[in-house]
Amino acid sequence: MQQKKSRGSLFVVSAPSGAGKTTLCRRLVSSQPGLAFSVSYTTRQPRKGEVRDVDYTFVGREDFLSMAGRGEFIEWAEVHGALYGTSGKRLEALMEAGNDVILDIDTQGAMQIKERYEGGTYVFILPPSFEVLKKRLEERMTDAKEEIEKRLRRAVSEIRSYQRYDYVIINDVLENALRELEAIILSRRVRAQMINPLWLEEGFFKQEEQ
Ligand code: ADP
Ligand code: 5GP
Repeated sequence: MQQKKSRGSLFVVSAPSGAGKTTLCRRLVSSQPGLAFSVSYTTRQPRKGEVRDVDYTFVGREDFLSMAGRGEFIEWAEVHGALYGTSGKRLEALMEAGNDVILDIDTQGAMQIKERYEGGTYVFILPPSFEVLKKRLEERMTDAKEEIEKRLRRAVSEIRSYQRYDYVIINDVLENALRELEAIILSRRVRAQMINPLWLEEGFFKQEEQ
């Protein structure tokens, strides 16, 4: 029996830290069957409440660099002084199982993927304003003051990359932003090129010959 869809799609989501991309991606993955989140490796320390291998796989810098040296990451980058990377093996396994996959990665990583892979969908999440971004980072209470300042300084240069993305979502009212991200994913899923021609052949065209 052929599958209806020929393969899973890749969604690359970037945003300045605190814009809400983790909240959006997690909400969507839990409500959309067939949508999976690729868990990254990082050398940063776990935040309160973060779960190992669910939020990130936390590793030491030496281990991370050995993995990078062995070519185990399809992209990796240094962000806010820590290393972050997407495992090729993990991504492959998720796509192989027929999932659409969301990568929540920074702009450097997103551009590395764009150079290597065709057919990804690139989404940039913006906060409604710089002030709101600052407030969200402060209220999240996961980062020290200096860490928040570092993230805010970086936010402006990251936002300059928005034109290299296919879609921009302003995460003001969460439910609206969720609907917009969901619409992007659903519209990608129903593109004509996503249908498996062998499934059409088996289910419809063969009937014509009988
Ligand atoms: P990121 O993953 O982009 O760093 P988070 O998803 O951790 O951001 O969100 C940062 C903070 O802002 C969290 O405390 C989250 O609950 C809150 N948040 C996210 N989206 C919204 C929204 N639309 N309105 C209000 N608060 C939000
Ligand atoms: P945080 O430490 O706030 O979870 O994430 C910091 C930044 O690292 C965010 O911009 C996030 O998207 C990015 N990031 C998370 N995982 C990866 C990854 O695997 N690769 C890259 N390049 N960036 C990542």
